[in-house]
Amino acid sequence: MSFESLGLAPFLLRALAEQGYETPTPIQQQAIPLALAGHDLLAGAQTGTGKTAAFGLPLLQYLGTEPQKVGPGPRKPRALVLTPTRELATQVHDSLRGYSKYLRIPSAVIYGGVGMGNQLDSLRRGVDMVIACPGRLIDHIERRSIDLSGIEVLILDEADRMLDMGFLPSIKRILAKLPKQNRQTLLFSATFPESIKQLAMEFMRNPREVQVTPQNTVAETIAHRVHPVDTARKRELLLHLLGQDARVQTLVFAKTKHGSDKLATHLEKAGIQAAAIHGNKSQGQRLRALGDFKSGKVKVLVATDIAARGIDIDQLPRVINYDLPMVAEDYVHRIGRTGRNGANGEALSLVSQEDAKYLRQIVRMLGRDMEIRDLPGFEPQVPIRWGNSAPGKAEQPGGQRPPRKPGGGRGRRPSGGGEGQAHAHAGNRGGNGRSGARAPAAAHAHQRNQQRNGGGPRRDANR
Ligand code: AMP
Repeated sequence: MSFESLGLAPFLLRALAEQGYETPTPIQQQAIPLALAGHDLLAGAQTGTGKTAAFGLPLLQYLGTEPQKVGPGPRKPRALVLTPTRELATQVHDSLRGYSKYLRIPSAVIYGGVGMGNQLDSLRRGVDMVIACPGRLIDHIERRSIDLSGIEVLILDEADRMLDMGFLPSIKRILAKLPKQNRQTLLFSATFPESIKQLAMEFMRNPREVQVTPQNTVAETIAHRVHPVDTARKRELLLHLLGQDARVQTLVFAKTKHGSDKLATHLEKAGIQAAAIHGNKSQGQRLRALGDFKSGKVKVLVATDIAARGIDIDQLPRVINYDLPMVAEDYVHRIGRTGRNGANGEALSLVSQEDAKYLRQIVRMLGRDMEIRDLPGFEPQVPIRWGNSAPGKAEQPGGQRPPRKPGGGRGRRPSGGGEGQAHAHAGNRGGNGRSGARAPAAAHAHQRNQQRNGGGPRRDANR
């Protein structure tokens, strides 16, 4: 299938060809014709699927060919794209600018953490398209520097993430400012929890649904590997892994802002060029860190989940989970940055006893095997109790660790020696992955195991 056959105009086809886009991705194939026909759309797609062009191309075609609906008067924005983070807003804006190279569509990107001046200037000059994060957009609404009464197309990008970040009240306030009639709404989301469905019912009219990647899947070309380790030795193990091939660009995920800063500093001290990116960094710092990472000046970028949303780096060869995410779906978002377009990727996770419960959920959600490999010299002092419901070749009575190859004993060995290996596997292969629910048997096993381990999940004050 070609972009021409989707009904796109020559001015877009030319820009796409120049960017090297040859064939539309599955989400583009499904979403573009429906959006061009004017339908509202509920689209299930995550980062890396080509979702930006899936909503961006029909949007630009509309703006480039349809005359403005509102009458004369000062220019008002005709299209609004809402995104959860500044990084994603910038990235969407850049992508749309690229696709609209042969159009004249003035636009503004609006997010917090930077001065108002530039944003006010562009809004005053008049724009057709606004790409915005909800918080700062509300500021503009309150000071009346933006008039949303002329919006003809609304796009909610990564809607689930916006809701996760607590933007629902802001989104509702924004939606209340938009015209109710003659508006097209496209909602893109990786997951569809009840809250999103409700939002869709309230604010969309008869939306068509498209879904590309079955949710909770990652590219088949990625090798997932788990290295068991004691929490206290994670840094050492990270240095060891990074040291194996210092040229590989690596995105490292840590769970806290403070933790990512400390880790980046530690890596720097060890002679590895590293930077941290998280919510406490200014926009300038984040952009600089990202730019340095993309250009290769920085080899290791340490990120928290929220800051990493929307980071668009093609063909990232390696992601290391220094800490596992507490929400299994975040694993998919993290790993979605590697193995794109059929490239090989590596996803390594450093898993201590306190991460074990998260690993169980991730394995169950992915529905595929994960190799567990002890690295000689880094084996945990006390074998990790994985829990009854996997991971491990066999369900382990008493929640003991999965089987190891001979030679992968628990004592530390200086070096050499075989690497103990096992596979984590999912108990729930048949699940559709959409609901995120556990198979009943697995859920019971999980509960039993928690009781045995003395109660529910431990809380870490640092989170
Ligand atoms: P997205 O999911 O929108 O973040 O896009 C992921 C990456 O794929 C971006 O770097 C896009 O530039 C790229 N991309 C999107 N659509 C295509 C396509 N049809 N052909 C080649 N690359 C694409």
